[in-house]
Amino acid sequence: MSASRFVDELAGLIAASHRIVAFTGAGASTGSGVPDLAGTNQILRADRGFSGSVFSLLDPGMAQRNPSEFYRLYRRTFFQPQAVPNATHRVLAELERLGRLIGVVTMNVDFLHQEAGQRTVAEYWGDVRDNRCASCGARCDWRRLVHEEVPRCQSCGGVMLPDFVLRSLAPYPDQMRRGRQMLANGDLALVVGTRQIPEGLRRDARLAVVCQGVGDVRGADLVCGDEPAEDVFAALERDLPFSLLNPVAGSSPSDSHQR
Ligand SMILES: [Zn+2]
Repeated sequence: MSASRFVDELAGLIAASHRIVAFTGAGASTGSGVPDLAGTNQILRADRGFSGSVFSLLDPGMAQRNPSEFYRLYRRTFFQPQAVPNATHRVLAELERLGRLIGVVTMNVDFLHQEAGQRTVAEYWGDVRDNRCASCGARCDWRRLVHEEVPRCQSCGGVMLPDFVLRSLAPYPDQMRRGRQMLANGDLALVVGTRQIPEGLRRDARLAVVCQGVGDVRGADLVCGDEPAEDVFAALERDLPFSLLNPVAGSSPSDSHQR
């Protein structure tokens, strides 16, 4: 399907939906300059001082043994405090503000959905703003990571590390519960920037996938694999007020207050 036709159809699906839930992965943030897994691997492979993979970079043992090396590479990959939300984040936040979207479930740790004004976000892996002392567990203001090469605990001198690294990338159970709840309640699942289709969607929920390079997706009503997500959402951003003011036949904004 051509990108512009996809945008039209997606705008129509959004206009007909009142409990949209978004499920986002790394491709939602590449337009903001945050590398995805392939981009991160590329950066690490090209680095002369590092011979490991993304998983060895995020290994809490490695990060504690060699915190300056961890932070050098972390700042080239996951930690991008200068990044700003792109059209994808903005449109999802706007849909929530309009009462059409019940929340975002994200696998990203970049905090960009919240930066865009999104209020309901389930973060399966937390985010880069949650940092703790590897020795005593004390919390650390994330802004110290911007200015200090290796932030140290003010009470015990231990190295401060991202919580998702200290947890060995174990997802947060409470966030997963919240995410599953949202996904089970949505009437339209908007999967963005990932090939992973979440489980537990409502049987009658529509499914739209926006992920560059994705092929056919079983059970999807719409798939756009031709363009980066931010281009699709930038086109949608231009079209959005119009499509929401003209909901397709058979739906009305008042439906959102039922249940
Ligand atoms: Zn400490």
